[in-house]
Amino acid sequence: MGLEQLNFIDGQDPLTPTILRKPKDKIEMAIMRLQQFEPPEGYYLAFSGGKDSVVLLDLAKKAGVKSDAHYNLTTIDPPEVVQFIKTFREVKIERPEHTMCELIVKKGLPRRQGRWCCEELKERGGSGRVVLTGIRWLEAKGRTRRAHRGMVETCYRDRSKRFVHPIIDWTTDEVWQYIKDNHIRYCSLYDEGFERLGCILCPMVRNVASQIKRWPKITEALRRATYRYWERQTPGGQKFETAEDLWQWWLKRDQSRIAFQQEKMMFDSDD
Ligand code: SF4
Repeated sequence: MGLEQLNFIDGQDPLTPTILRKPKDKIEMAIMRLQQFEPPEGYYLAFSGGKDSVVLLDLAKKAGVKSDAHYNLTTIDPPEVVQFIKTFREVKIERPEHTMCELIVKKGLPRRQGRWCCEELKERGGSGRVVLTGIRWLEAKGRTRRAHRGMVETCYRDRSKRFVHPIIDWTTDEVWQYIKDNHIRYCSLYDEGFERLGCILCPMVRNVASQIKRWPKITEALRRATYRYWERQTPGGQKFETAEDLWQWWLKRDQSRIAFQQEKMMFDSDD
């Protein structure tokens, strides 16, 4: 059964799907969801290279559904993640028209509450398609917090794009258990203590010092783009006295505000 037959009810409760047989466990439930919503042309699978997306890719194969997997380069991706993704022949790496640094020169630095880069770089693609993602509800104090968003939904920016999140109710432990039980490969950065594999110095990153140390070239490229952005501002109209002041302000992340923002999102993902 596809989305058209189901009329794609946004926010549909994944725990009461429109299927008759009761699933045995969350794995079976995820597989049933994948089969239930498969569109005739197959899914656009949004692959991030993180733990959730390797599970998603494996489940899509087990479910026997048609899909084409894509990774959208942002140009400030950790090189280790890109190398890992290149080992998946079935994942197409999509390059953007403009690099993150070119966009920063034009638009300024992305901020926690103005993450224009996700829309322009990371989440592009999938228009007119049913997009599979590995996003999950955020866990809080040992239980899963359910957001208002459901397992299926329509993109609010592009109404032709619809999402299915088959593992939305999985916990982080369940994701790792599945990886272990099924001998699935994952990016080496996790073994070094990284919990998320998003862009380098993303505004949602708290511990910038370790990223600056680990990826100095990308940090320097971002700093240079910040300087060029500042120089393009009307003389005297800049909010910061020097370009370096702007750069330092951007790096000074307010931990409590980031935690609050993440809490508000109520979703977990690899990014
Ligand atoms: S993950 Fe962060 S830096 Fe990367 S595109 Fe999204 S908001 Fe921007």
